[in-house]
Amino acid sequence: MSVVKGKRIKRLGIMGGTFNPIHYGHLVTAEESYYKFSLDIVIFMPAGHPPHKKDGEIISAEDRYLMTVIATASNPHFFVSRLEIERPGPSYAIDTLRELHQIYGEEIEYFFITGADAILEILTWKDSEKIYEMCSFIAATRPGYSLEKFKELSLTSTQKKNKLPKVHFLEVPALAISSTDIRRRVKAGSPIRYLVPDEVANYIYKNGLYR
Ligand code: NAP
Repeated sequence: MSVVKGKRIKRLGIMGGTFNPIHYGHLVTAEESYYKFSLDIVIFMPAGHPPHKKDGEIISAEDRYLMTVIATASNPHFFVSRLEIERPGPSYAIDTLRELHQIYGEEIEYFFITGADAILEILTWKDSEKIYEMCSFIAATRPGYSLEKFKELSLTSTQKKNKLPKVHFLEVPALAISSTDIRRRVKAGSPIRYLVPDEVANYIYKNGLYR
């Protein structure tokens, strides 16, 4: 059994995302997951080099990591990992899960938390069927999100005789907030107060991000 800061870990949440930038929607998703799935801790895992994104599309991994640290600092069960930002090459989830299994052991349960749209692409992820054996997924959805696409995904997988991932759906009203909208707002000079923690807004302005 793994122990983190004196706490025995049986159920571990991995909050996977680009966090460009982190916002209250992400924080509420992680807290709801912690509560609803009785997680012991949630580790935020900013992607270093998201496999499906082109260079130049996102700001530096270090800035995204630091904003994630600032945003989560006051929560005793939130942690932030540098695993993906320090690993060279594309940030494949399979590599992260292998590293986490080595650190925390095989006997605990792993929950990979991310946006439902990202999980919809799971068939294209590297070693996806291996991933299904290493974790289950918490797919965060915005209100009104249609689950039809997931039915298609499970139909396609069944027809191709592929294994299916274990997915729990979690509707998060705060996910009306999106990183894309925040980036647009900063560029347009519109306010982002109450969409991101004040400290994250200050970091963005101080460092001239998203101009
Ligand atoms: P994305 O395509 O930028 O995001 C898809 C949607 O999900 C967006 O609406 C996004 O909202 C939302 N979202 C992203 N992370 C979230 C989170 N933790 N909680 C709630 N909503 C979230 O996806 P991404 O951020 O690049 O990738 C998501 C995760 O999947 C990352 O950990 C990435 O490494 C992993 N991934 C792995 C592979 C692979 O292993 N081959 C391939 C693709 C993705 P916002 O824009 O507001 O965040």
